[in-house]
Amino acid sequence: MGNISRYLPRDFIEKVKSSTDFVSLVSEYTNLKKAGKGYVGLCPFHHEKTPSFNINPELGLYHCFGCGKGGDIFKFVAEKENLTYYEAVIYLARKNGIPIPTLSPKESSEIELLYQIYEFSAAFFRRQLVSDVGREARNYIIERGIRKDTIDMFQLGYAPQEGNSLFKSAVKEGFPKDLLLSSGLFKEKNGQVVDLFWDRLMFPIFSATGRVLAFGGRVISPNDTRPKYLNSPETKIFHKSETLYGLNFAKQYIRETGRALLVEGYMDALSLYEAGFKNVVASSGTALTPSQARQLRRYTENIIIVYDGDRAGFTASIRAIKILLEANFLVKLVRLPPESDPDSFVRKDGKEAFLALLNSAPDWFDYLVSILKKKYSLVEPANSILWVNKLAPFFSSIKDPIMLGAYASALGSHIHIQPDEIIQRIKSARDTRVEIQNTKSEIDPSKKRELRIFYSIFCGTECVAPSEIEKYKEFFLHYPGILERVLEEIKEGRNLTLDQLYQFFVDEPDAQSVFSQFSFSSLPPPPLSEQLRELREFVIMDNIKKKRDSLRVASAKGDEGEQIRIMEEINKLYRMLISETQINTA
Ligand SMILES: [Zn+2]
Repeated sequence: MGNISRYLPRDFIEKVKSSTDFVSLVSEYTNLKKAGKGYVGLCPFHHEKTPSFNINPELGLYHCFGCGKGGDIFKFVAEKENLTYYEAVIYLARKNGIPIPTLSPKESSEIELLYQIYEFSAAFFRRQLVSDVGREARNYIIERGIRKDTIDMFQLGYAPQEGNSLFKSAVKEGFPKDLLLSSGLFKEKNGQVVDLFWDRLMFPIFSATGRVLAFGGRVISPNDTRPKYLNSPETKIFHKSETLYGLNFAKQYIRETGRALLVEGYMDALSLYEAGFKNVVASSGTALTPSQARQLRRYTENIIIVYDGDRAGFTASIRAIKILLEANFLVKLVRLPPESDPDSFVRKDGKEAFLALLNSAPDWFDYLVSILKKKYSLVEPANSILWVNKLAPFFSSIKDPIMLGAYASALGSHIHIQPDEIIQRIKSARDTRVEIQNTKSEIDPSKKRELRIFYSIFCGTECVAPSEIEKYKEFFLHYPGILERVLEEIKEGRNLTLDQLYQFFVDEPDAQSVFSQFSFSSLPPPPLSEQLRELREFVIMDNIKKKRDSLRVASAKGDEGEQIRIMEEINKLYRMLISETQINTA
């Protein structure tokens, strides 16, 4: 049932939203006071003394100016009740006595067919892997040292060079053409249908119950200049932020061993599974999301993060700690040598060495303390406050007060401050502006620009001409797919509301927080035309900055040809920048 219930019709979602009394719902978690058009109260997501949690019942949105959390009513329930977004809709429907829609025969057969298309494609890719065209891919797999039984288990395959062989074969099989086009596995190019994946090693992505939902495809040749990984898009059956790679295989072993291993990539999951560490899942294709964490929490409370040894792996693991603490996990962490990932480590150093790492994995707190010790010596008394400030965001992710107390005393024993004082300090740290800036600055400024444009389109203060936005399409680097869908809606004359904005960004919790922040701001967003121009300028300037960096590298190398080439590119970018300015002042 799991996946099918995820497909909920839009009018049902809207009905649930409009029949939920947001104020009384939130009042179950915190006391609210009327303030202007909305209500304020102490934030139910972080400890605070003065209320910074705002709700706007008219729009059905909340935002906390203390911790930056915000979103619509479904996100609120999802976070408070540890549910996925879709489960939150069902939860509120039940609460309000709204009947859950059963899928119409047409819809359910459509979804079933979608599953069948993915199953058919997985089988197609597997056949290619063992056929003549799959030779190079087979060699690659052998080089990586993956065993036959693992290939079979994870159903690896190969998408051939030829651009539409999957499509031809699926049409021959009798799948309806329009459904194939909506499956996400094909694209229309110059009036022809082509396969999304070609010349790639294919990893099917399974649901927790083992059905194929999507694919990840990896390039094989080191000379291939295309992106290393490509994932199939979101569909009615695939929500990337709620899917953990390998969970279908791992869940039984997670229960048996009482712990889960969290890695970054498909290959890491595969190799660890092969080496006998079968309780492994990967957050492939995305950074770990709160939804993924909540899913995993159903199987165990113990988790060990095993990310890549490089800088990016370190940053991602720090982010993952917070998300996992919020989902009530007991978090440990393995740090691999800088050049290693779990795949290469277990192959080079062996199972025993990896097991030793797992068994001696430090708790997240001890790990962070070991870093702080190196960076901020306690010989300097002032550094103890720095320690508290650095650890504050992690401490405030802990929901259980007893656990929080335990960590506060552990920290207290290091810095010789009473645990109560530490907890006080953390609570007030969350109230200060410094913390707010920290949470906000995690969102990339160019991303935020795009989000503000989406917000402006949906908040209904301006009439939007899609042709005007289309001119700037190439500058939407973060959400090109969503922009495409939004433009389609406008062209079809659909009425856009803030409610729908949240539906478009259902899998982007960061974006939702940004939107709620905008909607509680007293300043209206600048005119859309101005924002579009600024986005363009920002992207071009950023490009120029990057080119300048490579110019510096080229000049250090003494590569004159390269220097001239880059300088020409920079000039071209400047001309591009100026040409627009002239148009606008003319
Ligand atoms: Zn808050």
